[in-house]
Amino acid sequence: MSGNNYDYNILDVVKCLSLVVRHTNPTDWDVDCPFCTVNPVNGHDGKGKLNICIPKDAFRCSRCDTHGGMLDLYTLVTGVDRKQARQDILEYINHGVSVDTKSLYAKAQADYSKRCSAKASASELDRTYRKFLSLCVLETKQKENLLQRGLSETQIKKFGFRTTPTHKEQHYHIINQLILNGYKIQGVPGFFKDKSGRWNFNLFGFNEGILIPMMSVDRKIQGFQIRLDNPRKGNKYLWFSSKSKAQGLSSGSPAHLTNPLTNNANHIVYLTEGGLKADVAYALSGKPFVGVAGVNNQNCLPELFSNLKKLGVKRIVDCFDRDCEFNEQVEKARRKLKNKVINNGLGYSRMSWDNRFKGIDDYMAAHNRREWKFNITEMR
Ligand SMILES: [Zn+2]
Repeated sequence: MSGNNYDYNILDVVKCLSLVVRHTNPTDWDVDCPFCTVNPVNGHDGKGKLNICIPKDAFRCSRCDTHGGMLDLYTLVTGVDRKQARQDILEYINHGVSVDTKSLYAKAQADYSKRCSAKASASELDRTYRKFLSLCVLETKQKENLLQRGLSETQIKKFGFRTTPTHKEQHYHIINQLILNGYKIQGVPGFFKDKSGRWNFNLFGFNEGILIPMMSVDRKIQGFQIRLDNPRKGNKYLWFSSKSKAQGLSSGSPAHLTNPLTNNANHIVYLTEGGLKADVAYALSGKPFVGVAGVNNQNCLPELFSNLKKLGVKRIVDCFDRDCEFNEQVEKARRKLKNKVINNGLGYSRMSWDNRFKGIDDYMAAHNRREWKFNITEMR
């Protein structure tokens, strides 16, 4: 990993556009999102935080989900084409820039490579995360929420949901247990070193909620999504991550397969948004589901598809939320998904249901199984 081959980088684009920087750390900057608009319907106040991922020359707004590469950032803000964008940026960096973005960029690349190589192996993550779960409990409030979604007590137990431990004493206890019993903490996303140099994990009041284990195709826990008790600025889910902390790491946004594919005679796997939605849909239907964090979270897909193929899977049925039929951006992501499925040698179908229900889990939970009506089409 040594950065792009251009004469400029995404920091130059940020500077060139005079975006307002809110916060910086070695690999990421947060700037005021130039794309967010006030939307009273979903509560957006127009003040999104655009994350600039320096090692990847990429950006994404956690609020409006506008995202792309560095040239997209420039063209979307200014409305000029890519050729003009390149000229503008080059002109900018050749004329009196005071910030040394080159060294910041090089540092970000180095920091990123170091973090990537420091990540614990899949087996180590699984081992630590399982022990971590065994030291957490599921409290009544979160359990009620899961029961309301249509899950049974047995299913809730089986999936391993827990309430995020946020009290100081819980943190001490869990960390001590992990260390005393020889579990690897260094290189495990979510864990970090605090200011006094002690290990801790990134679960506090701001991300209180339900821990949702994300299982790999070979049944290893590779991370956790958190269903927030109190959604923040339109976000219901966060990752268990420590990427902006000392010795911390990003979750890497792993995909989640709901169950082992031992009796998958149809060679089909269904795909939806988020680990919890996948678990609920599997629990209610008995069909194998894969949950990915969102329609735009597609980096994990090539590896996932390759692993599924090894288990005999031949077709992916896309059950993403029905907003792709009304939302152009989501529809674009759906087409990208379709291409990824096909390019990886699998069949692709799209499933639809009563469009008064956005998510497949909501539709399933609201109806008796005998009344379910699904349409599966080979959409283009
Ligand atoms: Zn935005």
